[in-house]
Amino acid sequence: MDASARAASLAAYAADTAGCVRCPLAETRTHVVFGSGDPHAELMIVGEAPGFHEDQGGLPFAGQAGELLERLLEGIGLGRDEVYLANVLKCRPPQNRDPLEAETAACEPHLFRQIELVRPQVVATLGNFATKLLSGRSLGITRVHGQEQEVTLAATTVVLYPVYHPAAALYTPSMLRALEDDFARLPALLGRAPAAPVTLSHASLAPAVESAEPEVVRADTVQLGLF
Ligand code: URA
Repeated sequence: MDASARAASLAAYAADTAGCVRCPLAETRTHVVFGSGDPHAELMIVGEAPGFHEDQGGLPFAGQAGELLERLLEGIGLGRDEVYLANVLKCRPPQNRDPLEAETAACEPHLFRQIELVRPQVVATLGNFATKLLSGRSLGITRVHGQEQEVTLAATTVVLYPVYHPAAALYTPSMLRALEDDFARLPALLGRAPAAPVTLSHASLAPAVESAEPEVVRADTVQLGLF
């Protein structure tokens, strides 16, 4: 299948998935959050699950974690429309709780089909859930972040690159530094020239935190299992 046929298949698959009832999250979601960005992207970013804002709007990474992700991407010269953004789960778990095994199992064919159709060179997994699912290993993100690994997913050989989840880095300066350092290696993994170094301090993130909806700010309910 050539690239434009794959993009058309991805759009058709997204339309089919909009009514997904493969798991009980269908009963509580507002929207299926399929994915967004360039269907031909060299870099695919896989998060955990939609939160409040994503469920409302139908697009991934719409809240604070998404703002930080955008800034990290800008730091390496990429806009969010130049990458492909997806999640392990396409529907929001109630109260942003951790994905259940049965939900992940029901939803993973959607993610694998996205990988097959986008055919990225690099898949960056954000946090534990995406990393464990796509690496097939149980090692936590603290152990494996920044360590690339070649894997074959849905008959597509990619460089899997685990990094901390931006939602976790919002609260932990050392994690934000590690995330910046890990992002700084992405251009090389994509075969591009290195980006000029950028540092996102927590002070520079403060306005984003203040303006966010309470639903996604609470560290106890947001993005559990990130470490
Ligand atoms: N928003 C998403 O779409 N995914 C996450 O993992 C976190 C926030």
